[in-house]
Amino acid sequence: MRPVIVKLGGSVITDKRKPFTVKRAVIRRLARELKEVWEPLVIVHGGGSFGHPLALKYRIAEGYRHRKQLIGISHTHLAMERLNRHLIEALQSEGIPAMACQPSACTLTANGRIESMDLRPLRKMLALGLVPVLYGDVVLDAAQGVSILSGDQMVSYLARKLGASRVVLGVDVDGVFTSCPKKDSRARLLRVITPEDVELVQSMEKEARGDVTGGMRAKVQELLELARLGIEAEIVNAARPNVLREALKGKRGLGTMITGGK
Ligand code: ADP
Repeated sequence: MRPVIVKLGGSVITDKRKPFTVKRAVIRRLARELKEVWEPLVIVHGGGSFGHPLALKYRIAEGYRHRKQLIGISHTHLAMERLNRHLIEALQSEGIPAMACQPSACTLTANGRIESMDLRPLRKMLALGLVPVLYGDVVLDAAQGVSILSGDQMVSYLARKLGASRVVLGVDVDGVFTSCPKKDSRARLLRVITPEDVELVQSMEKEARGDVTGGMRAKVQELLELARLGIEAEIVNAARPNVLREALKGKRGLGTMITGGK
């Protein structure tokens, strides 16, 4: 069976303004919503206030340059494992057989792009009925030593390799806007983005503050890769109760669809 792939944004499950702060009530609610999805599920989550501040401090996304970064690599990875544990525990409390999948142990990148990922254990987990939970991570990189692999890139890769039936990205805003809705009150929600909207995507703000993986623009770019292959995705507001659940159950048009044709 084709799995559903869901990304829980770091902006949803952590408080990005406070280092190492999880939104416990939100995580519990999301676990209840995910429990209602009956198809095989792969969960990926972002770094939020756990991974990003450390990755920035030790300049990990720029690659390995100095021994001093080694302890930073270790810290960044552990921070992500801690956040992952919060999520796994919440999922387990709802009876979801969640199992952590450590991306850095099965993935190599080259200049920040996935070169290989051993998906055999993950496929076996799915076949058994387990729910793999992956996360943005520090990974070893063939060209630059180390890199930061975003949850968004992983979602796009997994969707292609596993032939996802549905891809949903949960963020803390209603979808993709013409500009950042937190800064621009005139920002307009875009209902559909297709590969033809190249200029629009280029014009989007590149870097999210304190974020090492490129913010909303990078998300849209990853999902456009899928759209070109005929795999439709949607970016929805997972901070609003029940939106993620409905999207995962197949309801469309709740946020911004990234798709092959209008
Ligand atoms: P996450 O951590 O959940 O993966 P990000 O924080 O990287 O997500 O991206 C979501 C954030 O992107 C939103 O909270 C919003 O402030 C910001 N943003 C910037 N530009 C846009 C845009 N054009 N449309 C929607 N959100 C945007």
